[in-house]
Amino acid sequence: MSEAQTFDILVAGGGMIGSALALGLSRQGWHVGLVEGSGHESLVEAPDSATTVADFEPRVSAISVASQQLLEQLGVWSEVTAGRHCPYQTMTVWDGDGTGRIQFEAAELQARALGTIVENRSIVRSLFRALEQSPVELIDGARITGCKRLSGTYTVELEGGRSLSAGLLVGCDGANSRLRHWVGLPTREWDYDQQAIVCTVKTSQSHRFTAWQRFSTTGPLAFLPLLPESGDEHFCSIVWSQDTGEARRLMALDDTDFAAELERAIERELGSVESISGRFAFPLRQRHAKDYIAPGFALVGDAAHTIHPLAGQGANLGYGDVSGTFKRLPRHEFDEVCKIF
Ligand SMILES: Cc1cc2nc3c(=O)[nH]c(=O)nc-3n(C[C@H](O)[C@H](O)[C@H](O)COP(=O)(O)OP(=O)(O)OC[C@H]3O[C@@H](n4cnc5c(N)ncnc54)[C@H](O)[C@@H]3O)c2cc1C
Repeated sequence: MSEAQTFDILVAGGGMIGSALALGLSRQGWHVGLVEGSGHESLVEAPDSATTVADFEPRVSAISVASQQLLEQLGVWSEVTAGRHCPYQTMTVWDGDGTGRIQFEAAELQARALGTIVENRSIVRSLFRALEQSPVELIDGARITGCKRLSGTYTVELEGGRSLSAGLLVGCDGANSRLRHWVGLPTREWDYDQQAIVCTVKTSQSHRFTAWQRFSTTGPLAFLPLLPESGDEHFCSIVWSQDTGEARRLMALDDTDFAAELERAIERELGSVESISGRFAFPLRQRHAKDYIAPGFALVGDAAHTIHPLAGQGANLGYGDVSGTFKRLPRHEFDEVCKIF
């Protein structure tokens, strides 16, 4: 077997979080490798412009101002916002029982927006483009199949037999992290017994640059505003979290009946639902690693903590981890850092 290629830091998983972490650590002067299993091409391919509901990626994130600032520091936010994105100035949240309603306005904070809705793929694409111009060694399209630590160094095995070594291995491989399992970091976890149905819709009324969320006894429904290149204000991304039985019933409906249920559930705040993309359902599970670090190893992003999407904070928490990691890993203190992990 050939000798393992060696890095200071090896980041396992190049999703929205791992690719930002690898880019920033490299900027701090570390020799960084990034392994992404799913393949670069599938991450970066996207239609040039969106004219129908089918053209948007169904997975979007409400990016907070703090996460935006991090992506600005990494030099990728301008590229993200050169593509489709929708800043929202208002957030309206209410209880379906009619007992409460609250509205937040960016103007109250003297801010231009409360956050920005971005397709996940768009963030990953911008990060990967920056990574390609960086010293990071990008190993794309090969899954990690195992890892072990010997004499203070981690070695990971990749599909196809290649191996890589590093003083610090960072697991950014998502909610079902295999690295967390292999290293033996236990989690506290439980099922919400809910599924999140996601899709894109076009409505008869403008979204008014507002993130809408209505709570019902079976779970919350969010309408998140999208903005295609044409500036058409009638597209929204839906995240409809419902108890598992109800989610299954909704997924089994045809588009006409599903659209009618959606209109009722959002109390026709945006008029009628005129078209609807393919729907996907994600089972929801809370997971929190009891420890984020072990000797020579750290967890970041969903690999460390996975939460309900109702607050739209999963990726934002991950970017918080990334900021914290940059502060803990200044280049000149590597030996000290290795003692910590
Ligand atoms: C319905 C829904 C709506 C959400 N909305 C929001 C929102 O509005 N705002 C927000 O902040 N968050 C939101 N989130 C949460 C957000 O999507 C996640 O927190 C975020 O995607 C986590 O990113 P990550 O990079 O940690 O993990 P992932 O996106 O899961 O990335 C992990 C990466 O690791 C790779 N990988 C896995 N295993 C291996 C392996 N063995 N070898 C190599 N590579 C591997 C995968 O291919 C993947 O690219 C939402 C989540 C859901 C389910």
